[in-house]
Amino acid sequence: MAVREFSLSTSREDFVNITRQVAEAVRDSGVTDGVCTVFCPHTTAAITINENADPDVVRDLLFALAKTYPDRPEFRHAEGNSAAHLKSSTIGASEQIIVSGGRLLLGTWQGIYFCEFDGPRSRRFYVQVT
Ligand code: ZN
Repeated sequence: MAVREFSLSTSREDFVNITRQVAEAVRDSGVTDGVCTVFCPHTTAAITINENADPDVVRDLLFALAKTYPDRPEFRHAEGNSAAHLKSSTIGASEQIIVSGGRLLLGTWQGIYFCEFDGPRSRRFYVQVT
């Protein structure tokens, strides 16, 4: 099955709700029962699924990640963005969602997010439905 590529522009730190684009890729794929993979090809960004109703959840996630992974003088990575790399690995580069009856089997309060930890940047993500 073909891979669909999407582009987006991010702010410094951001959770961008990409559920609509992923649902569109599922619809266009024609797959009724299978699995949808969403993949982020960047080392300081990530993909996650979390609450789409209260925007304070995203704020709290970013706050907690910043507290968990502060910038540290001991970091050696010369680019100076090790905290962003740590957040990326913690959240993960991909998610898989079951496709049933031609729809993503997401819960009512679940949204799919592209997580930016070292923006602003032009970013991409891929969706494959099989
Ligand atoms: Zn780096």
